[in-house]
Amino acid sequence: MTQTIHILPKTLADKIAAGEVVQRPASAVKELIENSIDAQATSITVVVKDGGKTLIQVIDDGIGMSHEDAVLAFERHSTSKIATYEDLEQIRTLGFRGEALASIAAVSQVEMKTRQASDQIGTKIRIEGGVTLEETAEATQAGTIITVRNLFYNTPGRRNFLKTNNTEFRHIYDVVQRIALSHPHLAMTFISDDEAILTLYPTTSSERIKDIFGEHLSQYLFFFERQSELASISGFLGKPDFVKKTRIEQYLFLNNRYIVNRSMNHAVYQAYEHLLEKGSFPFFVLFLNVDPRKVDVNVHPSKMEVKFGDESSIYRFILSSIRKALSEQDLIPLAGIKADGSLVEMQKLAFTLRPGISGQRVVNWQELFKQDAQSDTTTVSKSSTHREISIPIPETAKNIPSPTQLETSTTSQIPTQEPQTKDLPSVWQIHNKYLLAAIEGGIVVIDQHAAHERVLYERALSRFNDKHSKSQQLLFPLTIEMTSGDVTLIQQLLPHLETLGFNLKVFGKTTVIVDGVPVDVKPGDEKTILQDVLDLYKEDEHNLELEPREKLAKSFSCKAAIKAGDPLNHAEMRSLLDQLFATEIPYVCPHGRPVIIKLSLAELDKRFGRTS
Ligand code: ADP
Ligand code: MG
Repeated sequence: MTQTIHILPKTLADKIAAGEVVQRPASAVKELIENSIDAQATSITVVVKDGGKTLIQVIDDGIGMSHEDAVLAFERHSTSKIATYEDLEQIRTLGFRGEALASIAAVSQVEMKTRQASDQIGTKIRIEGGVTLEETAEATQAGTIITVRNLFYNTPGRRNFLKTNNTEFRHIYDVVQRIALSHPHLAMTFISDDEAILTLYPTTSSERIKDIFGEHLSQYLFFFERQSELASISGFLGKPDFVKKTRIEQYLFLNNRYIVNRSMNHAVYQAYEHLLEKGSFPFFVLFLNVDPRKVDVNVHPSKMEVKFGDESSIYRFILSSIRKALSEQDLIPLAGIKADGSLVEMQKLAFTLRPGISGQRVVNWQELFKQDAQSDTTTVSKSSTHREISIPIPETAKNIPSPTQLETSTTSQIPTQEPQTKDLPSVWQIHNKYLLAAIEGGIVVIDQHAAHERVLYERALSRFNDKHSKSQQLLFPLTIEMTSGDVTLIQQLLPHLETLGFNLKVFGKTTVIVDGVPVDVKPGDEKTILQDVLDLYKEDEHNLELEPREKLAKSFSCKAAIKAGDPLNHAEMRSLLDQLFATEIPYVCPHGRPVIIKLSLAELDKRFGRTS
């Protein structure tokens, strides 16, 4: 392929977002690398000195330029990439403004050597402060070498504005890294102050990520992709417990161009909602592809900002794609034990649950927990005689008596005779707080409160979605006195509270009459549940990113869930596990804390000093 450079007609040039292209060494580096990529380079070397202040050199093996084009390339608005207004409407190259080389040459000492593979001899051009000093024939390798010395040497104001060499180097590194991430097939070498910083060979996207962020990171990431008529998206997402306290490691590429877009980032955060604790951010590298006619990259000289034709559809596409990808992951944290016996920070271990026939995930915890646990048929039955808790048992679990059945059979307060447990894995409750079970290769510990919270939370959300409330009528309506502020809040939330299963009447400024409460409310809690839910709701009230319904679902599930300290019998434990594993995301509670932790046999063996 050859190209011809022309000067854009003024009318077209005027339509291009004006502004300074070169603000610091990193912006020059970015423009030069983008030119090399547009010139179909397969290998690019970037050399800088003193944070790019004294030297920036970009060497590529791209298509090069003819002598005439080499001369034209430094003119303002000279480009080979667009010719008409229609081209500007559908940009497929990284550059299109025809300004970068001119701008760089205006504020530095530039030398360019270039040759097209089909030409015998190449061209050398030297320009200082926009003044051409040399245009000669020169023997040079095929491709282009551009050397930029002493950036801003003739604009002391801007030179003084530059930060330390280290800071400028960081900015350049970021630029190189982003390009490397989005162009894994490109070989790249980055040298700073004579030190090789990156040496990257052509590879796949996932290998490139490893090359850049290190091998260890890959265990915390998973790949996903999705397509629709509107757009396609693929990339790598951090599993929820691999979170960052800063937003830095987040990369969004639109049609292979690194972009910064608050709204699309928000879509990603929204998808992680409830999986992350406050103040932490997910790691992601996302490649979004949209028909170039439906995006405008011509909004800012840096080309990092873009305008989407249909922003809200793209937002929803990203949100739903990532939500789905996350819900398909099995995200059980793996705990390790430190020398002092305490648990080390969570590590991620995806443990594979079998996918169902339809591709839908079917988690059968009984299958999962049964492995290795057969030797334990002499179940340590820690059935409780306190029967305050009841976790409704789904109808599908026919072989297990329902709590009401148990209720009648345990009136004598004698520990329940366990139903036939031969085929069922053993599960224990410890400290009336955690459930414990053996699985293949280790044991799992489940936080009973967090587990129930997850169940109730998803149930509440689905009630909101299908407006299908389930309420238990109280025999004697309760009259509750509240502050007038709380009563006002109740009035605001009334439709949502009703969908949740509350039956309420507001009576005067400070009185509420409760006729019914959601079925999930434990007997005995009817009196306090409403006030508890309101109090918790208020703590979250200023979280503007959450809808009132979601906040309500969160506070309700927390307050209605069984607590640490609540004893459970076997039927209840099983029912809880059945319901937990039927949820979309069983591994984290709505606040982002883990529900399940796995301890591997290897870890236990290590602790016991076993070698096998
Ligand atoms: P733009 O990239 O917006 O077209 P530039 O000022 O960056 O504008 O470059 C002007 C022209 O010079 C490009 O359109 C391209 O034809 C040519 N050019 C620049 N760098 C290279 C390169 N490394 N290899 C081949 N051609 C190049
Ligand atoms: Mg360019």
